[in-house]
Amino acid sequence: MAYKLGDVLISREDISKRVKEIARQIVNDTGKDNSVILVGILTGAAIFLTDLVREMPEDMDVRFDFMSVASYGDSTTSSGVVRIFHDLKNSIEGKNVIIVEDIIDTGLTLSHLLDILKSRNPASLKVCVLLDKYERRKTEVKVDYCGFRIPDKFVVGYGLDYASKWRHLKDIKYVVDE
Ligand code: 5GP
Repeated sequence: MAYKLGDVLISREDISKRVKEIARQIVNDTGKDNSVILVGILTGAAIFLTDLVREMPEDMDVRFDFMSVASYGDSTTSSGVVRIFHDLKNSIEGKNVIIVEDIIDTGLTLSHLLDILKSRNPASLKVCVLLDKYERRKTEVKVDYCGFRIPDKFVVGYGLDYASKWRHLKDIKYVVDE
């Protein structure tokens, strides 16, 4: 089956506004020690994370790193069995950690990742997702920061791909049958 780009679901303007709001929320929640480590999940969250951190103030101790994980499944769904391809460079023990993910769908990937990172004893561990396909959840995951709740349709752009394509789009768009 071939696919092509469909309508815009979320415009670049709306994304940019929401990213600023989420950054503000994170800064407000950070507390006295004013430090946070954002863990971006490659490749989908790369654009979201890099936009997010640039909305945080200079006097805050903001660090970020990336993990690359593969969840077994077909091209559009995940099984939740996660294998780490690329791990964090530094320890997160005793740190305030926020996982930054492009989209939560069934929740299986994030739930497995939370288990992995929890076992490394961070001071706190939160979840920030740009998109939430809440209707599809198979396992409960506490999402601390969410950009947009979206319907159960496949989307691309702003980091999200279909078969490695369309990550570079500035807007988030539907994918439709050709
Ligand atoms: P979960 O384990 O929550 O079901 O899967 C989350 C992962 O599924 C995301 O990181 C992403 O790779 C993929 N995914 C789920 N829905 C979509 C979608 O609409 N578009 C894209 N590009 N990926 C999706």
